[in-house]
Amino acid sequence: MSEKVVIIGSGPAGWAAAIYAARANLDPLLYEGTVKPEMIPLGQLAFTTEVENYPGFPFGNVREFVETSVDKERHWNLPPVPSEQRDGKPHYAVQGVELMELMKQQALNFQTRVVSDDIIDVDFTSQPLRVMPASGDPIESQTVIVATGARANYLGLDSEETYKNKGVSACAVCDGALPIYRNKPLAVIGGGDSAVEEATYLANLKDAATIYLVHRRDQLRASKIMQQRALDHPKIELVWNSVVEEVLGDGEMVTSLKLKSTVDDSERELEVGGMFVAIGHTPNTAFLHGKLEMNDKGYIHWKEPFRTLTSAEGVFAAGDVADDYYRQAITSAGTGCMAALDAERYLAAHEA
Ligand SMILES: Cc1cc2nc3c(=O)[nH]c(=O)nc-3n(C[C@H](O)[C@H](O)[C@H](O)COP(=O)(O)OP(=O)(O)OC[C@H]3O[C@@H](n4cnc5c(N)ncnc54)[C@H](O)[C@@H]3O)c2cc1C
Repeated sequence: MSEKVVIIGSGPAGWAAAIYAARANLDPLLYEGTVKPEMIPLGQLAFTTEVENYPGFPFGNVREFVETSVDKERHWNLPPVPSEQRDGKPHYAVQGVELMELMKQQALNFQTRVVSDDIIDVDFTSQPLRVMPASGDPIESQTVIVATGARANYLGLDSEETYKNKGVSACAVCDGALPIYRNKPLAVIGGGDSAVEEATYLANLKDAATIYLVHRRDQLRASKIMQQRALDHPKIELVWNSVVEEVLGDGEMVTSLKLKSTVDDSERELEVGGMFVAIGHTPNTAFLHGKLEMNDKGYIHWKEPFRTLTSAEGVFAAGDVADDYYRQAITSAGTGCMAALDAERYLAAHEA
């Protein structure tokens, strides 16, 4: 028997699509993926700590809400409770894993069926569509929502891994305003448009100190207008011809970077309180190459602006996998909702 909706991916886009599809009685089947070094079920937010910008989650005792909402058998997955208090009250933002467990729970409450497996191949050439899980038989479905996200690229240093969430981040818009970065010199690594954008974003924050833009060459790859913006900014300082050799810290937080010159191999230490890596993202679309139209960076192409339709009939794309511009949890959840509504309309129009 053919499914009505199969959802591939378990970030904000996947769960939002599941909530909408389940509430429309489409009985969705969601593949959440498996643990790999660069990807885990629950998506990119499961790699981070505080999420201060997801609407509906102001500071407070979020844990009490999470524990009374999320099924007990998944409490093992919850991170330790941060202990910050202000005026005698708990003062912490929802943690990435907490937010994602709440989204998953909301989808489960409406009977979404969840499979812990990866989809490794698809056949979108005719109806019913077919998706192939890593284990088990191929699944047939009338519609498929691809919500597999995009993973941030990192430098690949062991010391960078040690200081993730302790001064190393791949998202200035997400993390730049957190208290741990305020009034501290910070480094942005990269030379393209997104690196310049991240540096400018950080430099424009109220409590910004010097923002170093560290680039391996002696000129930026960013567009002329973006370059000028960085070069003219009083708080942005360019560090040319340099690569990060090591992230240094006191165990709790980043304190400096060891830089190596790409010209003469000389080394220097740059004192910073944080490092934002802005060297691009990799969309999780390897299993879809040749099956869906994509842009030159491998992101799925939406056939019509502001609709989630892809080049294959009955296949919709949501979240970061189709968005190389905004890449936020709220925009991903938004397009997840859109994809479920688009699938529902497609099914209604193609009812046998
Ligand atoms: C360090 C960091 C901090 C961030 N902080 C914030 C923040 O504070 N606020 C904010 O709004 N955004 C933040 N973001 C961005 C946010 O995490 C993403 O925009 C969002 O998670 C994208 O959601 P998504 O559903 O499109 O994909 P993802 O969250 O990437 O989820 C996709 C998931 O799909 C699954 N998957 C992938 N391939 C397959 C497959 N073949 N088969 C089955 N499953 C598969 C994987 O489990 C994958 O994790 C942050 C990102 C990072 C890296």
